[in-house]
Amino acid sequence: MASTADTRRFVLPYIAAMEGYVPGEQPQGGSFIKLNTNENPYPPSPRVKEALVGAVSDRLRLYPDPTGLAFRQTAAALHGVEPDMILAGNGSDDVLTILTRTFVGKGDLAAYPTPSYLLYSTLISLQDGRAHIVPFTDDWRLDFDALAAPGVKLVYLANPNSPSGTALPAAEVAKLAARLDCPLVVDEAYGDFARENCIKLVKDHPNVIVTRSFSKGYSLAGLRLGYLIADASIVAELNKVKDSYNCDAISLAGGKAALEDQGYLNETRSKIIATRDRLAAGLCKLGWDVTDSQANFVWATGGPPAEPTFQELKRRSIFVRLMRYPGYEPGLRVSVGTDAEIDRLLEVLREIV
Ligand SMILES: *Cc1c(COP(=O)(O)O)cnc(C)c1O
Repeated sequence: MASTADTRRFVLPYIAAMEGYVPGEQPQGGSFIKLNTNENPYPPSPRVKEALVGAVSDRLRLYPDPTGLAFRQTAAALHGVEPDMILAGNGSDDVLTILTRTFVGKGDLAAYPTPSYLLYSTLISLQDGRAHIVPFTDDWRLDFDALAAPGVKLVYLANPNSPSGTALPAAEVAKLAARLDCPLVVDEAYGDFARENCIKLVKDHPNVIVTRSFSKGYSLAGLRLGYLIADASIVAELNKVKDSYNCDAISLAGGKAALEDQGYLNETRSKIIATRDRLAAGLCKLGWDVTDSQANFVWATGGPPAEPTFQELKRRSIFVRLMRYPGYEPGLRVSVGTDAEIDRLLEVLREIV
């Protein structure tokens, strides 16, 4: 039972006034089909499991390497950059927190598009900053002039975007970066599924910061590891802000092994993309409009009503994500599961809509 003690008055007013971020439901136990938080339906690379077991040793007595040099060297080699251009975090959400704490102060403006990842708003509120929200056009493009409003201290761009799965081409992101007088965070949590990425922009556009996750492409949402690629001068500042030991020895070892198994990533990615296209076609056939997704989920709107469909699926132990954005019809974001899971989803949908 919730306590009725009047302790809220101790809390900073802007914290008391804000809504906390609400992650997607994580049902525990039981059997269900979980297509609501864009986890990967395939297990992580067997090499990751080996590395994790290897990291569980007497060495856990010692603190981990504060900046995860071995991990950064592997990530740097993979992306063709220098290790001092990489910063690791406890999931890419931690990386986004570090960025926001570094660039956004009390009363400062930070910009992001809508509909997009809702965490950006929470991170700005935690700094007592102000959100400058720019709507996507109907065809999922952006007004760069609107994002580059005077006084904006940081711009977040999820690319591919969630919930739409759409992505701006790197050449467009480069134009946006050139237009801005502040850092541009290109959140590539879904970059492993996209046709191209923006890492190559960092060299010519030192205000571009690309963030990456192990939760989606690498099937490691439970491990909590992410990283960013940025100009070394930016990474040096971010290192002052992060917790000293923000990544543990186990996740750093697992992440390194995951990056080293690109063959496995390519295999699972191909399967997911094939299933995604089948899922999109199936939802279109049932009457939904489905965007051109470059991620491991699809966004369905304009068809059978989202809320009752969501509820009925849930009743049958199939979890998808019902998303509401102010000024938009609610939509369904459906993660790409295994072929069997998606077959089952489409079968149930054919029954209920
Ligand atoms: C899932 C997601 C993240 C968070 O990834 P973690 O590495 O699990 O913290 C960040 N940005 C977007 C757009 C996401 O969808």
